[in-house]
Amino acid sequence: MPDSLRAAIRDVVDFPQPGIVFKDITPILADAELFRRSISLLCATAGGARIDKVVGIDARGFIFASAVADRLGAGFVPLRKQGKLPWKTRQTAYALEYGEGIVEIHEDAVKPGEVVLLVDDLLATGGTAAAAVKLLEQLGATLIGVSFLIELSFLNGRSKLQPYPVHSILIY
Ligand code: AMP
Repeated sequence: MPDSLRAAIRDVVDFPQPGIVFKDITPILADAELFRRSISLLCATAGGARIDKVVGIDARGFIFASAVADRLGAGFVPLRKQGKLPWKTRQTAYALEYGEGIVEIHEDAVKPGEVVLLVDDLLATGGTAAAAVKLLEQLGATLIGVSFLIELSFLNGRSKLQPYPVHSILIY
């Protein structure tokens, strides 16, 4: 079944800028069976562990992480780009292709020792997920793994997420 997920992903060349092949996951979201299957496969990456919070990364990560949280009986926590969260935040900077980005999390969103699964749609260079991991470490989370629907393995992003288990459903 990962094959039908793979077949549904649309490669958009030169988006959002020249040289990038954007993996468009909206055809998966729009198909009830494929969307359900993608959530099932992401849930399985938790290995049956009891999860307190599923943390999703702004913005496509929210779509998958919130559905995974609901299915696992866990809470959902958004990790957002700077300036979007209304309450007190912890923030960290991460490298982008040009310059840097900042991600934030509410400082009370995860309590020390809570078991967390981090979810995003796609692992590229790993900069975004590594920043998310840093924030979760600061909050004292017990991070049991980082799960992606798609991994661009040639960018070796998973090396930035050591020593945490990294799971990807579709590897390119
Ligand atoms: P990175 O920090 O380089 O691992 O980038 C990961 C973030 O950027 C994810 O939240 C993705 O949604 C997005 N992203 C990076 N590259 C792509 C791509 N080729 N197609 C779709 N989304 C991408």
